[in-house]
This record gives sequence, C-alpha cells and structure tokens, in this order.
Amino acid sequence: MISETIQKAINDQINAELYSSYLYLSMSAWFEDGNFKGFAKWMKVQTDEEREHAEKLYKFLVDRGGRVTLKAIAAPPVDFKSVQDIFEQSYAHEQKVTALINGIYDMAVKEKDFATQEHLNWFVKEQVEEEASASEMVHQVKLAENKPGNLMYLDRHAAKRGGE
Ligand code: MG
Repeated sequence: MISETIQKAINDQINAELYSSYLYLSMSAWFEDGNFKGFAKWMKVQTDEEREHAEKLYKFLVDRGGRVTLKAIAAPPVDFKSVQDIFEQSYAHEQKVTALINGIYDMAVKEKDFATQEHLNWFVKEQVEEEASASEMVHQVKLAENKPGNLMYLDRHAAKRGGE
C-alpha cells in the first residue's frame, strides 16, 4: 500500500507531467506556425515523452494499490516572444519539474517508502537529461542569435531528434 501523502504527491505529479506535455505541444504549435519544422518536431518528441512520464507514474500508483485521480490540466501559454524565449521557458520549466520530483523523493525518504524512492530514481536521472538537453538548446539558439541562416540550420538539425 501507499500512504495518502505520497498518493496525493504522485497524483499531483501525474498532473504536472501532463501539463508539461501540454506546454510543449503549445510550443510545438508555435514553431509550426512560424514554419520552424525542426523545432516543432523536437518539441513534439518532448510532448510524447512527458505523456510517458505521466503513464509511468500512473502505472506505479496502480501497482502500489493506490487510486489515480485525474484533475484539470491548466492551459499553457499560447504566444511566445521568440525561439530563444521558448527554449529558455522550457529549461526553466524542467528545473521546476526537477524540484517537484526532489520534493516527492524527500517525502518518500521521510516516510521510509523505499518502493517510491526506487521508482523515482528513474525520474531523478531523467531530469538530469531533460535539463541538459533544454540547456543545450538555449545555448545553441543564443549562438545563432541575429543570424537567421544559423537559426534555420539549427531548426533543420533539431528535426533529427527522435530518429529521423
Ligand atoms: Mg517529465
């Protein structure tokens, strides 16, 4: 069984992962609108990964005999200032998600809930990758700043994410 506190925290995290998926889909749509096909694809891959994160937590809660309770997903922003703005926001968002995961991990340590700690280990590692890939995009987009040709090159390069 799982404690009420951890159950609530995991349900909240399912919501946060689904919001992440929704946020990245909105960013992907902004890129599509601006004809940045590669960045749109990059964000679409990100969207799908976030939904998988939610599903991992969903399955964990079910396996532990917990109750999944889905809540409303907040509307993501629709308008962004620039390509750089989007990647900066996605990097900041991943840092927030890391803090959320660490918060649940902390609770699980305090409650001596070893199964939750073990499950969250995957997420702790995943967040290191998520932050690294978002931060790398921020860095590359900044380098391409004010040089439209470079940004278009980066856009084409971003399309390669996800095995294409
Ligand atoms: Mg995630």
